[in-house]
Amino acid sequence: MDRLPSWVEIDLDAFEWNIGRIRSLLPGRVRILLVVKADAYGHGAVRIARQAAECGIDMLGVATLDEGKELREGGIALPVLILSPVLPEELEEVLAYDLAVSISSYEFAVSASRASRRCGYPCTAHVEVDTGMGRAGLSAEGAADSIVGMASLEGIRLSGIFTHFPASDSDSDFTAEQIRAFTAVVDECAARGVAFEYVHTANSAALINFPGSHFNMVRPGLIAYGHSPSLALSERLDVIPVMSFKARLLLVRRLRAGTSISYGRTFIAPRDMTVGVIAAGYGHGMSHRMSNRGAVLLRGRRTPIIGRVTMDMTMVDLDGFPDPAVGEEVVIFGSQRDERIDVDDVAAWDGSLNYEVLCRISKRVVRVYMKRGRVESRKSLLGVHEEQ
Ligand SMILES: *Cc1c(COP(=O)(O)O)cnc(C)c1O
Repeated sequence: MDRLPSWVEIDLDAFEWNIGRIRSLLPGRVRILLVVKADAYGHGAVRIARQAAECGIDMLGVATLDEGKELREGGIALPVLILSPVLPEELEEVLAYDLAVSISSYEFAVSASRASRRCGYPCTAHVEVDTGMGRAGLSAEGAADSIVGMASLEGIRLSGIFTHFPASDSDSDFTAEQIRAFTAVVDECAARGVAFEYVHTANSAALINFPGSHFNMVRPGLIAYGHSPSLALSERLDVIPVMSFKARLLLVRRLRAGTSISYGRTFIAPRDMTVGVIAAGYGHGMSHRMSNRGAVLLRGRRTPIIGRVTMDMTMVDLDGFPDPAVGEEVVIFGSQRDERIDVDDVAAWDGSLNYEVLCRISKRVVRVYMKRGRVESRKSLLGVHEEQ
């Protein structure tokens, strides 16, 4: 870290703690599919997947073929489900990498069956039922007929069935109705001879809010990384944020009153002032909307961002800090001494979501993995580096 201009720290002990807290909400027979899409919400999919395997996670969820391939090429052997639909053209590669697909239409199941016969690999599939998300999945009405038809297609193993909730943090009547409609489809399939090994619906919010959504597997993402899908739920589960985002002062400048700062000249120094230039901008995953809003931590105190956030650098007010030095550590989110900036604070400043603040940390930012308070490994654009 000492020589890095910007980095995120990933606290693997916090991740393990969070998995333990999730498990404490579940009966022992309920399995966990950990969602590691979007590079494990910015945390680094392969390293997180390895830790997940150590914690006894049963399955991983990704969104794309490439995300699945990255896990396999990184040596991850756990079952992997691609949650989003893939294109029919991608199917042979999906099967060759032993990735499970989600099925949202009968036509896709036919393509998968053909692909399996062509390449000789079986196709493991989870059927998605749309009970109210309005995104992917078979419409609940008539779903059982389609599923019974799919079950006799050669090469396809219908291993799971699932649905997804759009409002499990905010609308319990709607969610309860989804659970009812989903259960009806699962029961009808069973009555017609199609039983599933994995039945799953719960994202993070449902996992906390609706024990009736657990079935025999849950699909948490955000809470495993230590954040809450909504403020109302944050008191209900004591998870710890896994990621902190840090950068260093690249320059310390004395600027005269009247000097303008950054693009668009939106900030004019009201007095002679000391300005810090930090090694992070929107090209690292800060938001341009934090321009003249928001703050960072220096020496355990909040200090405001001044002028527009640029692609590579951001300016901050250093007045009131005696002798600030090049190389000093600034925290964009995370803790420093007794103060902290939450991912939720950043999301409020830039009008986004905690999910988005995590996902948008770009690949130019080195991921530094911490275990038992020490640096364990790093991942940069140039690859993975293990510490001695
Ligand atoms: C992203 C996703 C999840 C995880 O959602 P969280 O709110 O992060 O827990 C679960 N299931 C599906 C289908 C998803 O797309």
